[in-house]
Amino acid sequence: MFDYRARVLHAESMSLELLAQRFGTPLYVYSKAAMLSAWQRFTQACGGHPHCVCYAVKANSSLAILQLLAKLGAGFDIVSVGELERVLRAGGNPGGIVFSGVGKREDELRRALEIGIHCFNVESEAELLRLSALADSQGKTAAIALRINPQVETGTHPHIATGHRDAKFGINSGLAEALYRRAASLPGIRIIGIACHIGSQITQPAPFLDAARCVMALVDRLLENGILLEHVDFGGGFGVRYQAEPRLDVSALISQLRALVEKPGLKLLLEPGRALVAEAGALLTRVEYLKTTDQGRFVVVDAGMSELIRPPLYGAWHEIRAVTLRPGMPSEIYDIAGPVCESADFLGRGRRLAVQTGDLLAVMDAGAYGFSMSSNYNSRPRAAEVLVDDEQVTLIRRRETLDDLMAQEELLSG
Ligand SMILES: *Cc1c(COP(=O)(O)O)cnc(C)c1O
Repeated sequence: MFDYRARVLHAESMSLELLAQRFGTPLYVYSKAAMLSAWQRFTQACGGHPHCVCYAVKANSSLAILQLLAKLGAGFDIVSVGELERVLRAGGNPGGIVFSGVGKREDELRRALEIGIHCFNVESEAELLRLSALADSQGKTAAIALRINPQVETGTHPHIATGHRDAKFGINSGLAEALYRRAASLPGIRIIGIACHIGSQITQPAPFLDAARCVMALVDRLLENGILLEHVDFGGGFGVRYQAEPRLDVSALISQLRALVEKPGLKLLLEPGRALVAEAGALLTRVEYLKTTDQGRFVVVDAGMSELIRPPLYGAWHEIRAVTLRPGMPSEIYDIAGPVCESADFLGRGRRLAVQTGDLLAVMDAGAYGFSMSSNYNSRPRAAEVLVDDEQVTLIRRRETLDDLMAQEELLSG
């Protein structure tokens, strides 16, 4: 959905040059068609089997994106009351919400009980007891799944792996059976499912299938204990292709996951975040300076780790393209540096580009964990976001102003 037309990079039918002129930079640009196509890949693979694709809100929590997915019939995986309120404001169905996270506060549990969400993915015994007491005191019943830690290695970056032995997430699969029995006896609790989520940006099917088999073995043992489930939630983590990673065949993988739940007749839940939005977004940034030092050549741009922290945080690689191709200009190898006062503030290193001051660059595949991880560090107002639909463009978030930046603060009196 991002391609060159007459030497200018476009999002669908919109020129990125025109978008930068109209909305300024740094600017997040999303393609609606790319999101629709990613969505369809998931739902088509689930086919006629009962399922719910619960979009992981943290990947990109902008209201218009949530609204678009809600209209397509998405459920939502949330990790905070803030995400819960976003989903509701965007028109999401409370009955399609699953609530994950290791640190759910009492007020967050209370609000989710009040709304009547589909399922609490419980991550510890202490959380289970807190939820039971709260639900019971409100005369409500909380539908729960236990999030199992299947202890598989995923081959992903350590910061985004969650299913290994020493992760803080989930309940050790060896202890889960006993905790399910405990849950069955608690007031205010109704067991409806089981969940796992082993990490993010996983590009091989094997870890998903290993985790799924571990979960299904537990489903069998629970059945022997007379605990009957309604759904299995295999989480998210489906990798995308940023550089040269193997292309994960999501359709084939989901068919295999589906086959595992078909025989016991369980509903299939998935929680993709990245795979639904990453490839649909680009971060548009303008070249402020070209700079040469003893160390090499730098392109200094107007976006950095405040807009896209993935490169410094995870060593993530994003393709960086010149928006306007300059066939006559000799290219050079550059490091692409942001303006933020941190040595780690690079969007990419060692990239061959033909650019001059004032040109635009597009950081590709930035639709997931881009804006949603952005910050005001260095007192930088947050970027604007636009959604492109063929030749139409909608400003879905205006650029933050300097007044916005300081709006919550007070000077000392006197
Ligand atoms: C982050 C997260 C997801 C989404 O992960 P992706 O890699 O973006 O698909 C799904 N479920 C849970 C519990 C998560 O924490």
